[in-house]
Amino acid sequence: MRFGQPPVQLGRRRRLDVWAIVATVLLASVFPVDLFPGGPRGQHGSDGQLSGKQGQVLLVHVPLKGQPADIAGRFLNRRVPFFQGTSGPVGLLGIDMQDAPGTHELSIEVTDAQGPRRLSYNVLVIKEKYPVQHLTLPKDKVDLDDESLVRVKAEQEQVKTALEGVSPERFWEGTFIEPVHGTISGAFGRVRIINGQARNPHNGEDIAAPLGADVQAMNDGVARLTVDHFFSGKGVFIDHGLGLYSMYFHLSDITVRNGERVKRGQVIGKVGASGRATGPHLHWGVRLNGARVNPYAMLALPVSQVLSANQ
Ligand SMILES: [Zn+2]
Repeated sequence: MRFGQPPVQLGRRRRLDVWAIVATVLLASVFPVDLFPGGPRGQHGSDGQLSGKQGQVLLVHVPLKGQPADIAGRFLNRRVPFFQGTSGPVGLLGIDMQDAPGTHELSIEVTDAQGPRRLSYNVLVIKEKYPVQHLTLPKDKVDLDDESLVRVKAEQEQVKTALEGVSPERFWEGTFIEPVHGTISGAFGRVRIINGQARNPHNGEDIAAPLGADVQAMNDGVARLTVDHFFSGKGVFIDHGLGLYSMYFHLSDITVRNGERVKRGQVIGKVGASGRATGPHLHWGVRLNGARVNPYAMLALPVSQVLSANQ
């Protein structure tokens, strides 16, 4: 299957943008400062501030000596779980695609040899520019009939419940991979305004690929939910542990079962156009402790800096 030249170029350019942003953000955020009040660097000031754009993922490394008995973070009322890296606890902080721009607190409760403490960081959320599409469609093409509406509501509830579960174990290891190679649409965060009414923003990335192409798990995990939904069609939700989920929609075929352990790169389904889709493509989404993040942000995480090769 061939795709038009302009979308190919647009997709590549957008992807490079995303990578550049992620890389910059991570360099600035791998070593948070003001951990130790009275230390060499001040508690305040923009030099120690974490920052990231809406939809990005920050890797937060807390340089503590030894493994604390307990450590847990909170950001905008969402959990930020930590795991032990090679030189201190590490957490993945997801900035939701619609978190309000501005400065918010990342609060970390630590209990170690020094006793219980609370560490506080400023996180600057930077506004991302998302595409906006205005569409005018006949009313009967937009409104769902009662039966479909009931079905969609039940399906939304099923997904919400599944994504609320936080497995205490980290299943993912090492770097993350793209589930399929194809033409990236750059549709993450796109807002459609249909007949003057704003719809929910597009919470993943669409990758156009040939019908039947293999779809691979982005990392190790557990297939937590397999569905055949009205909008997303045949879909797989993979739980990577510590509140990280990836989802793969519009599949033509699902090749894993609920509860099955999957490895990074394992084929979990085939590209299709099931559900509401205009052509064969993969909708790839990532949820991190409730935050809707750009799945491509996962690929650029410098996990090798905080984990040893076999972690
Ligand atoms: Zn999509």
